[in-house]
Amino acid sequence: MKINNSHIWHSGSLYWPTTLTHIPSYPALQGHITTEVAIIGGGITGALCAAVLARSGIPTVLVEGQRVASGSTAANTGLLQFSNDTMLSELADKIGETDAVQFYGECRKTLTRLYKLANEIPYDTGFHVRSSLYCASTSSDVPRLFKEYSMLRKHGFPVEWGSPHNTGHHLPIRKPAALVTHGDAEINPIRFAHGLIAEAAHKGANIYENTVVEGVQRMGDKFVITTDFGEIIASRVVRAVSDVPGIESPSRIKPILKRSYALVTPANSLPASWPYDCMMWETARPYFYFRTTPDRRIIAGGIDENQADATNDTDYLFNRTLRLLEELGSLFPEKQWEAEHAWYGAFSESVEDLPFLGETAKQPGIFHAFSSGGNSTVYSMIAAEMLRNRILGQEHPMHALLSPERPAQPDSSAVKTV
Ligand SMILES: Cc1cc2nc3c(=O)[nH]c(=O)nc-3n(C[C@H](O)[C@H](O)[C@H](O)COP(=O)(O)OP(=O)(O)OC[C@H]3O[C@@H](n4cnc5c(N)ncnc54)[C@H](O)[C@@H]3O)c2cc1C
Repeated sequence: MKINNSHIWHSGSLYWPTTLTHIPSYPALQGHITTEVAIIGGGITGALCAAVLARSGIPTVLVEGQRVASGSTAANTGLLQFSNDTMLSELADKIGETDAVQFYGECRKTLTRLYKLANEIPYDTGFHVRSSLYCASTSSDVPRLFKEYSMLRKHGFPVEWGSPHNTGHHLPIRKPAALVTHGDAEINPIRFAHGLIAEAAHKGANIYENTVVEGVQRMGDKFVITTDFGEIIASRVVRAVSDVPGIESPSRIKPILKRSYALVTPANSLPASWPYDCMMWETARPYFYFRTTPDRRIIAGGIDENQADATNDTDYLFNRTLRLLEELGSLFPEKQWEAEHAWYGAFSESVEDLPFLGETAKQPGIFHAFSSGGNSTVYSMIAAEMLRNRILGQEHPMHALLSPERPAQPDSSAVKTV
């Protein structure tokens, strides 16, 4: 059986697979196996959950319908930031300042724990600490951005204000104003996912590829997870995929499926004037952003669209790639830009720009790891730690705020119209 998903995750020429010299492989599940936790999905979300659980000695099985990190994770451009697509000052208007600051603070602490994890696993995950230049796209966005700077500063986040020439970085970029946050990071998402899965396997987790979950059924206090050629009996199930037969999606989780575009420039194309340890994004929605690579490429992306899938439309991809190149050209007009790889991929957003993580009263034992949005890797790490805490009987500070059963915000339908 093939995975029956309603969308294709990506198309075009992906960059990250070219950075792997060896792709580890895992067997398909045949027969029956019993475990405490069954994780469905071998993207970055499932990989983080598997590594965090296995490192805590919790018996874990992970099943992936295709190959590890072949879904949206393969299209991910690998930026990790504590800032959400919704500014802290705007999130505070929606959910209250205390909760908004707690959420931003948790994302910041989670970045530190991701750094620690990436350093502890014996694998080059491409994890590098970076700063982010957050630019005002137009002059009219400057007051909004300054309000954000003031809010971040008030709550002790590592931020500097300045038009690019006085941020201390001497940034050669043409925008009316910018703030710089510190303590963000970049990763190679495929290498990170493979490193986490290898670590989980090393710590005793069983990993299966080419194993499609066809259904999940409760049987007393256990779950029976039926795969194409086998069966898993587990006490808990982690949903690290969009949909699985037998798992009811909580009514609050209403994913908005989007397309995002990305390209990679040739090695050594990064202008010498740009600080390689700085990523860039902006206030416009949808926004343009870029990061660098150790071999001095630029990975640029954006132009998000409300499209449910990533079909193989090459003309469309060509057109959007030209638009990304034009954006790069407007920032660095002295260079002729070209793309060595260009692709587009699907990802999910939530209307509130917050992930939905945890169990529901209706289906206890099923943990939803819906890590929405462009910052989803940070949320996937929060999911992994929340899951581990739950199994170990410990509270997690984000439990109520990110619950799939949390009350809807009164204005949540008006939050984002990208
Ligand atoms: C162009 C682009 C750029 C992005 N940039 C960033 C970024 O900079 N930072 C960031 O944090 N996020 C970014 N994202 C978002 C990010 O890619 C995704 O949100 C994230 O990788 C999703 O990971 P995942 O593990 O949840 O899902 P996936 O990677 O899609 O993994 C789900 C897996 O489940 C498997 N599966 C599905 N159904 C079944 C089944 N029935 N049985 C078994 N297995 C099944 C699939 O094969 C798949 O491998 C970007 C997305 C795109 C498209």
